[in-house]
Amino acid sequence: MALGLQPGDEVITPSFTYLANNEVVALLRLTPVFVEVDKQTFNIDPAAIEKAITPKTKAIVPVHLYGQAANMEAIMKIAEKHHLFVVEDNAQAIGCDFTFSDGTVKKTGTIGHVGCTSFYPSKNLGAFGDGGAMCTNVDELAEKLRMIANHGQKTRYYHDMVGCNSRLDSIQAAILDIKLRHLDAYCRARQQAADYYDQAFANHPTMTIPFRASNSTHVFHQYTLILHDVNRDALQQHLADKKIPSMIYYPLPAHKQKMFEIYQTGSLDLEITDWLNKRVISLPIHTELDEEQLKYISDSVLEFVNK
Ligand SMILES: *Cc1c(COP(=O)(O)O)cnc(C)c1O
Repeated sequence: MALGLQPGDEVITPSFTYLANNEVVALLRLTPVFVEVDKQTFNIDPAAIEKAITPKTKAIVPVHLYGQAANMEAIMKIAEKHHLFVVEDNAQAIGCDFTFSDGTVKKTGTIGHVGCTSFYPSKNLGAFGDGGAMCTNVDELAEKLRMIANHGQKTRYYHDMVGCNSRLDSIQAAILDIKLRHLDAYCRARQQAADYYDQAFANHPTMTIPFRASNSTHVFHQYTLILHDVNRDALQQHLADKKIPSMIYYPLPAHKQKMFEIYQTGSLDLEITDWLNKRVISLPIHTELDEEQLKYISDSVLEFVNK
């Protein structure tokens, strides 16, 4: 809304994602253009973005999936060249650092024109209920965003533009104010858990451990394996029998969701997205996992795949 996009404008976004960012695109009657992700990083493929650009393209929405940055250097270059907005979906990657080739380091969510994040309780910086925030370095956009989030008013009861109620409630803000100070420690705890899993599963013939990109840290919102020739349903059942939760993020890619039926994207040929979709599995990861639990979980996975 703040970027002044018009119905019919195209927004390039990955299909291999949680679809909340694409939902906004549809709410504003913009057109989502779903493109492929990189097989290793799970993140939007810059080459696929370039191919999808048309005269109607107005914005790119990269998602830093599972806690690792999309290739923001390549994406910002494409955006500059074609005069496009970049809105980062940073819901899974708050605290993540992206390093440019000249050595500059920036936090995800602060690189594009706007960065959006979520404080949903399961996120890396979670509130005790729902909440979210947007970041921008553009003053004019910041002002508009504040107005939109508060029914379009700057001066109370004078509504200059159509907005909504998207205010962060005070209880959540107070909790986040405290938790924010510990964000780095939360990240480290997740990274330690991920390191444990990495060691347990390294070089296994039937599992690919998460790729660590050289230009990004990984804050491990999820720890996601790629399975090869493993019966994923049976593995999930095996884990469930041992009271270990596991999840498939996400069972259906965005372009095949009924929500987007009107765009007729269901028949799109997104080979890598479909390939990943059938093979990914995410193991428990959070800030309170101890070594005994990590051992129990990895032993249980190995017991199944080594059978
Ligand atoms: C959680 C999440 C969102 C949305 O968060 P809400 O707080 O529900 O608005 C958006 N994008 C991604 C990738 C997410 O994981």
